[in-house]
Amino acid sequence: MTTPLLPSDKALVPFVSVDLMMQLIHRVGLASALKGIADTIEEDFARWEDFDKTPRVAAHSPVGVIELMPTANRTHYAFKYVNGHPKNTGEGLQTVTAFGLLADMDTGYPVLLSEMTILTALRTAAMSAVAARHLAPKGAHCMAMIGNGAQAEFQSLAMQNLLGITHVRLYDTDRAATEKCAANLAASGLHITQCASPEDAVQGAQIITTCTADKRNARVLTDNMVGAGVHLNAIGGDCPGKTELAEAILHRSEIFVEYPPQTRIEGEIQQLAPDHPVTELWQVITGAQPGRRDARQITLFDSVGFAIEDFSALRWVREAAKRTGLYMPLDLLADPDDPRDLFGMVMRAQG
Ligand code: NAD
Repeated sequence: MTTPLLPSDKALVPFVSVDLMMQLIHRVGLASALKGIADTIEEDFARWEDFDKTPRVAAHSPVGVIELMPTANRTHYAFKYVNGHPKNTGEGLQTVTAFGLLADMDTGYPVLLSEMTILTALRTAAMSAVAARHLAPKGAHCMAMIGNGAQAEFQSLAMQNLLGITHVRLYDTDRAATEKCAANLAASGLHITQCASPEDAVQGAQIITTCTADKRNARVLTDNMVGAGVHLNAIGGDCPGKTELAEAILHRSEIFVEYPPQTRIEGEIQQLAPDHPVTELWQVITGAQPGRRDARQITLFDSVGFAIEDFSALRWVREAAKRTGLYMPLDLLADPDDPRDLFGMVMRAQG
């Protein structure tokens, strides 16, 4: 009789594949997933000081970046592996792909491994809506969505479901991207307008989201395109040398960021002096700092994506996967009967 390679009491790690993530979203409902992740982000941002924080560790090449995003609190540790390669779409590949892991601080054992390409789109959209809840003008109903790639529908639906946006004005330098986005949002109940220029897209919008991919200091918005009272949600400027807004806009805006040591390297504010004042969003969430103060103020969420958002998203997925059973057990951890007899465990496979 051969000894089974996988004893029935073996420690297996729940794994959420791309296929299972897609099923999970349909089972839970996209709006409910966005809301769940947004609430978990707010919960974790409210206990910001409990987390170990570090700017992400980036490996740059002339065409893109690969990043590791770790963080931990007393109970859990998480990291995400993510890339950003704007030229990939031209080759039929994603600009952004990701996976991540959640682990137990007590044992150091992983408790979830998950795809995070879809999850990053969900958490980035949820984060945008969390920021807009505190910063967008009251009664905002129209958003300009500039950059209509992989993130765009998620951004639009989060603003619809969490903020009450009813109208989205789309613009992309590639008309095919705008048509794809409009088609995907056709059944959402949002009123969609396809625009011929960024100037056209911002007409009548109280929120302007920029979510473009271009590895350079772009001018997606120029100063004259941003009127008083607008909330800017700048997603695509998230790497050294990769920004979307004209510098003059930043000088007219109250700027809100995730984690300043990372945003100063990667965000729109890399264009400004290193001591330019910014407000940390977690302090707005706890009430320690004000969000929007008046109707004429221009507010800017200089989003780069921070590790705690991924930590929150993984926390939410772990609960949702448990609830729905939508995960597969992964043989990731060596589990010898005698913890010191790793060699003996290897010998079991001898046949
Ligand atoms: P994508 O490549 O799928 O889409 C980007 C779109 O931008 C493309 O359709 C492209 O045609 C368009 N574009 C490029 N330059 C433009 C311009 N000047 N005006 C209008 N449209 C323009 O990429 P994606 O996955 O949607 O990601 C978009 C950006 O968001 C990337 O730069 C990515 O790095 C960033 N991102 C940020 C976060 C965050 O947390 N802040 C999270 C995920 C992605």
